[in-house]
Amino acid sequence: MSNQELQARYGHVMMNAFGAPKRVFVEGRGVHVRDADGREYTDLLAGLAVLGLGHAHPAVTRAVTTQLDTLGHISNLYASEPQIRLAERLAAALGDPSARVFFSNSGSEANETAFKLTRLTGRTKIVAMEGSFHGRTSAALAITHNPKYREPFEPLPGDVVFVPYGDVAALEAVVDDETAAVVLEVLQGENGVVPAPDGHVQAARRLTEAHGALLWIDEVQTGIGRCGALFAHHAEGVTPDLVTVAKGLGNGFPVGACLATGRASDFFQPGMHGTTFGGNPVAAAAGNAVLDVLEDGLLEHVTETGDWLAGEIEGLGHPLVDHVRGRGLLRGVVLTADIAPAVAESALDAGFIINAPRPGVLRLAPPLIITRDELRPFVDALPALLDRHG
Ligand SMILES: *Cc1c(COP(=O)(O)O)cnc(C)c1O
Repeated sequence: MSNQELQARYGHVMMNAFGAPKRVFVEGRGVHVRDADGREYTDLLAGLAVLGLGHAHPAVTRAVTTQLDTLGHISNLYASEPQIRLAERLAAALGDPSARVFFSNSGSEANETAFKLTRLTGRTKIVAMEGSFHGRTSAALAITHNPKYREPFEPLPGDVVFVPYGDVAALEAVVDDETAAVVLEVLQGENGVVPAPDGHVQAARRLTEAHGALLWIDEVQTGIGRCGALFAHHAEGVTPDLVTVAKGLGNGFPVGACLATGRASDFFQPGMHGTTFGGNPVAAAAGNAVLDVLEDGLLEHVTETGDWLAGEIEGLGHPLVDHVRGRGLLRGVVLTADIAPAVAESALDAGFIINAPRPGVLRLAPPLIITRDELRPFVDALPALLDRHG
C-alpha cells in the first residue's frame, strides 16, 4: 500500500491528535528509514530523541527478543534480574549512593511519579519554568508551560507557579519554605533546544536546599547520552533530588524511570504508587542493552560529532542561520526568520527528517551513532533548503 492509501486509512480511524501524518514508514536500519512508497530518508530526529542507537540496532533486538523468549512479563508483585540490574546502573550513573528507582513506560509517567513524590514532602507548591515541556498526563501537563496544551484541560493538579527560565531573581522571589519542588530541564528541547543560562541550575540547587525543597530535573529528552553524558545535569555539578528519564532509555522500546536521592528515595511506601508494565523484564533488557553500547565509548563520539555538526552549520555562513545551540547531538539551528516549519517540510521532501519545535528553530536529534559522513549530505543540502523559503 502507498503512503496515500495508508494516510487515508489513518484519517478514518485514528484520533486527530497529531494532525495528518506526513509519511507512513515501513522499515528502518541505522540512521535510515524507508516509507511506503519506497523512498529513503536520513533520520535526523531519531523518533524524537529516542533512537540513540539508531533503527534496528542488533544489540537491542537481540536483548529484547531473547528476554521476551525467556521471561516477558511478571507484574510488579514480583521482580526480575534485568530490572534490578538496570536500576543499579541508573542509580550508579547518578552517582549518589542513596539513589532509588521507580520504572514507568514513558516520560510523562516518570514525571507523574516525581510529581507524586513532591506531594509527599507535606508541601504542595511547585515552581516550574516558562517554556517547559514535561508531558501530557494531567500532572505532567500541570507543570508544562504552553497554555495551548494546558488550558483545555484545566483544572489540573494545582499549586504550580511558573517563572521565566533562567531568571535567578524570579526564582529567588518565589522559592520559599512552602515550596515542595523546583522542576526544570537543563536544556528545554521542545522549546527549541534552549540551554539554561549559566548559573541557573546551580541557583535552583542552592535555593531548594536553603528552603527544604526538592530539585527535580527532567532529563527525559536530555538524558541517556543525548547531550554527551548519561545525565546532562552532570555538567552543572549538582546532585538533584529527583531525575526523570525515558526517551533514549529503551531505544524505542517504551521505558522510563524516576530516580530519587536522599529523603525523597524513601517517600513511597507499599500501596502509594504502582504500574502494571513499568520496568518489565523486556523493557529492562532494552535499557540494559542501550547502556551497554553507550558505556562502550559512544558518549565521546556524541560530544565530538555534535560540536562538529554545529561548527559545520555555522561555518556555512548562511544569512538565514543565526547560530546553532544545544549540546551533544541535541541541537537547535536558530534561524533569522520564522521559516522553520516550511524548511522542515522541504527537508522531508529532500529525504531528511528534522523538525521545527519553534517557528524560527530547526531541531536536530539524530541517532547518537551517526557519523560525520552520514551528516554531511544534510549540511550540504541545508543552504538550498533555506534559500527556498528565504
Ligand atoms: C518528551 C518529553 C516528555 C514526555 O515524555 P513522553 O514519553 O512523551 O510522555 C517529558 N519531558 C520532556 C523534557 C520531554 O522531552
